[in-house]
Amino acid sequence: MQKKNILMAYAFAMLTLVCLGIAYIVSMEHDAPEIIITPFPSSLTENSELEVLLYDRSSGIKSVEISVIINGKPFPILTESYAGKHNSRHLRFNLKHPAITGKSGNIEGTLRIKATDHSTANWWNGNSSSLDAPFCIDADPPQSELLGISSQVRRGGSAAVAFRASEPLQSALVRIGPHEFTAFEQTEQVYACIFAFPLELPLEEFKPELVLTDKAGNTSTSPLETAAVEHEYREDNIQIGQNFITGKFAEFSLIVPDENDPLRLFLRMNRQVRQSNYAELAEERHNTAAKPLWDNDFMELPNSVRRGLYGDRRVYINSGTTIDRQIHKGIDLASYRHDNVPAVSSGTVLMAGYLGIHGNMVLLDHGLGVQSLYSHLSRVGVAQGQQVTRGQTLGLTGTSGMAGGDHLHFEILVGGHSVEPDDWLNQPRRARMETIINQPPNRRD
Ligand SMILES: [Zn+2]
Repeated sequence: MQKKNILMAYAFAMLTLVCLGIAYIVSMEHDAPEIIITPFPSSLTENSELEVLLYDRSSGIKSVEISVIINGKPFPILTESYAGKHNSRHLRFNLKHPAITGKSGNIEGTLRIKATDHSTANWWNGNSSSLDAPFCIDADPPQSELLGISSQVRRGGSAAVAFRASEPLQSALVRIGPHEFTAFEQTEQVYACIFAFPLELPLEEFKPELVLTDKAGNTSTSPLETAAVEHEYREDNIQIGQNFITGKFAEFSLIVPDENDPLRLFLRMNRQVRQSNYAELAEERHNTAAKPLWDNDFMELPNSVRRGLYGDRRVYINSGTTIDRQIHKGIDLASYRHDNVPAVSSGTVLMAGYLGIHGNMVLLDHGLGVQSLYSHLSRVGVAQGQQVTRGQTLGLTGTSGMAGGDHLHFEILVGGHSVEPDDWLNQPRRARMETIINQPPNRRD
C-alpha cells in the first residue's frame, strides 16, 4: 500500500515536470530583437543626437545596453531595462562620456548596441542581438586665418572679409547683433563675405564676429576687427499734397482695399505696406549666387540727377503738418520721362513685378548676398530667372508705387539690408572690397 503511494507520487512529479517542460518549450520563441540605427554623419561631436529603434514583435524588449569601444576598451553610455511587453523602443542618446569629453583631435571608435527580449529562451535569459557601428568624433572647433577685412565701415555702408578655414565647414557667417551675413566658399576652405553696418543698428551693437560650424557641428566664434564709423544722415522734408494723396487712391486701394480714407490709406502704405515690402525684399537674400556675378564697373542711370539720397530722414508734411517719418533707403534718380533703366551690373532677375510702395520693380542678384533694386517703373521688360548683363534695359522709369514724379528709385542691398549705393557705384570704394574677396588671386578660376 505504502509502496503504491510512493509510485503514484513519483509518477505525478514526473508528469508535472513533463508538463512544465512542454510549457517552457511552447512559450519559448527564438526571434531576436531588431536594432535599427538612424544613419549618422561620418563626423560627430559628443553632443550629436543619435537615434535607435529597437523592435521585438514576439515577447517585447526587456533591456538595452549602449556602449562605445575605444582602443578595444568598452565604456557604457546607456543601460535600461523594461518591465511589461513593449514591442518597440525609440531611444535618443549622445556619446558624452568621460572617455571622450575634453579630448582633442579625432576620436575613432565603435558604437555597440545590445538588446534582449522577454523570451524564456536560453534559460530565461531571452534572445539577444547586437549591432556595431563605427564612429568618429571631431573634438576640435574650426579655426580661421584672416586673409583680409575692410578696415572700417560707415553706418549704412558695406564691408568685406575673406578667411581660410582649418577644415571643411557646414556653415560660415558674420554675425552683427541680431543680423547674419552668409560667407561663401570661393576656393577650397577659402571664404568671402560681404557684410554691412545696418542703417538702424545702434553703434554699440556693431560688434561683428565670425561664426564657423564644421561638418561635425562644432562651432567657433571669433571677433572681427573693423572700425564702425558713425554717420548722421540728413533730414529731408517731403511735401505731400492733397493731389498726390487723392491721385494715388485708386492704385493704393488695390493693395489695401479695406481703407476708404485717402490720408489713412497713404499712411498705411507708407508704414505697414512699406515694412512688409522690405521684409519681402530681405527674404530674397537667401537666393544669391555663391560667387560674384557683378562686373568690374557699375553703371548708374545715365544723365540723371539725384533728387533723394540714401539715408534721408524723410519728414512727410501735409498742409503744414508732419504726418509721418520714414528713412529713405535708396537714391532717387531723375532723367526724362520713361527713360531706359539699365542693370547696374550683371546678375540674375530675382523679382520682376509689382511690390507695394515700390510699384513696378525689378530686383537683381549679383552674388554673395549683393542685390540691386529698381522701383517705380512704368514698364518691366525682364522676367524672373533671366540673366542680365551690365547696362541691359530692365524697364522704363515711371511713377508707380509711392512716387510723385517720374524717377528711378535705386537701391543696393547686402544680406537683405539696404546699404549706401555709393559704396558700390564708387569704383575705388568697391575695388577695396573686391581686393579683399579676391584673395587668393586665382579665386575666380
Ligand atoms: Zn526713393
